[in-house]
Amino acid sequence: MEPVHIVGAGLAGSEAAWQIARAGVPVVLHEMRPAKGTFAHKTGDCAEMVCSNSFRSDDDVMNAVGQLHWEMRAASGLIMAMADRHKLPAGGALAVDRDAFSAAVTQALQAEPLIRIVPEEITELPTTGNWIIATGPLTSDMLAQAIRRVTGTEALAFFDAIAPIVHAETIDMSVAWEQSRYDKGETEAEQRAYINCPMNRAQYEAFIDALLAADKTEFHEGETAGYFDGCLPIEVMAERGRETLRHGPMKPVGLTNAHKPDEKSYAVVQLRRDNALGTLYNIVGFQTKMKYGAQTQVFRTIPGLENASFARLGGIHRNSFLNSPTLLDNRMRLRQRPNLRFAGQVTGVEGYVESAAMGLLAGRMAAAQAKGADVPSPPPTTAMGALVNHITGGAEARTFQPMNVNFGLFPPLDEARGGRKGRKDRYPAYTQRAKDDFSAWLAAQ
Ligand SMILES: Cc1cc2nc3c(=O)[nH]c(=O)nc-3n(C[C@H](O)[C@H](O)[C@H](O)COP(=O)(O)OP(=O)(O)OC[C@H]3O[C@@H](n4cnc5c(N)ncnc54)[C@H](O)[C@@H]3O)c2cc1C
Repeated sequence: MEPVHIVGAGLAGSEAAWQIARAGVPVVLHEMRPAKGTFAHKTGDCAEMVCSNSFRSDDDVMNAVGQLHWEMRAASGLIMAMADRHKLPAGGALAVDRDAFSAAVTQALQAEPLIRIVPEEITELPTTGNWIIATGPLTSDMLAQAIRRVTGTEALAFFDAIAPIVHAETIDMSVAWEQSRYDKGETEAEQRAYINCPMNRAQYEAFIDALLAADKTEFHEGETAGYFDGCLPIEVMAERGRETLRHGPMKPVGLTNAHKPDEKSYAVVQLRRDNALGTLYNIVGFQTKMKYGAQTQVFRTIPGLENASFARLGGIHRNSFLNSPTLLDNRMRLRQRPNLRFAGQVTGVEGYVESAAMGLLAGRMAAAQAKGADVPSPPPTTAMGALVNHITGGAEARTFQPMNVNFGLFPPLDEARGGRKGRKDRYPAYTQRAKDDFSAWLAAQ
């Protein structure tokens, strides 16, 4: 049988290799480390965790990432098995002994007769064969250029510029209102596409003070090459002048406060719909390098967002990722070259767990293809399905930025109550539905 080739033995590539071998299909795993490193990786081991040693919450009832753990365990995932074997005490989180974890993943892959690990950099996109590209946020320059030659320059970003994303139901609509600037748009939906949060002068000045005073994170050494002015953090814009934001992303022009039509706002924070379901909104132009604690504090001073719950907080990182909603089909294949699948962080998911999950899925799909069969994505009601559905279609392509798994990606349940108070009932209902649907998906393979 023809082997499946995988480029990159990170969290995604390692999981994909395992799944393919378990399905009885041979694998060639191409990894450039240790001969060629990145600024973040320190070893030549597979599945190296480059920063924190946490797989985040292990609560599979009340937390979406915990539910993703559950699904990966149910699908006999290698990453979860080795994380469980090398876990450290960390309360409700799944933290691991990183060196022992990576060594165990490496040994498991080396011991698997169907997997051959080849230490080499791949610098071109192959035109034939069954390939998975899982080269991560630090995809080597040569391969990144090759990807750009096929997909177009705009389709592969080298930095993310993540604006915070808010659960729509937690925005106070007695303060905020829906309106596009100058009511632009053909349809009523377009004319009401943004949610606006008004500020008076005192609120704006206090907000600028808070931005300037907030704790910020620094770029890692070697991370900023190629960083450009187009995605300046809001706090940097504020440092350039107290009025800069009021003339930039917070400009109040073309907007009328629906609750107080006679009152002119001094500044307006706009939120734009972030997914087809309409459950998530991003704060427009608010990419930031403020620390997470500071972000929550500062953004909750915005009128209408006092009780906001964040699906993800903002950030700017060196991060190679595709515009997957336009480039990938629902089997994670590059539309222009269906012999290539992408998996892991390069597809625009974010985090160790999400990346490994996309590797698991791509591995199962590629193995099925090698055997002349087909594995569809899990239903969007599962954590894995919600994530892959988001990156391959549910997300807004024009503003696509990397995404963590979160309940905002799940189709809403009709019977569960909305709002913050409803979460106690709603989250267990989401995760129970996810478990039932994921089990059915697995059983059908
Ligand atoms: C500085 C930094 C800090 C981070 N901190 C965290 C964190 O704390 N928590 C978290 O959850 N996530 C974090 N991330 C994100 C994390 O790196 C990813 O979620 C995860 O590692 C992605 O898995 P992956 O398999 O897609 O990519 P990786 O794990 O990066 O694996 C990609 C592999 O491909 C190899 N490769 C690249 N190009 C080629 C090529 N041309 N040929 C052959 N091999 C190649 C690389 O050497 C690497 O081994 C961080 C990322 C960075 C850059």
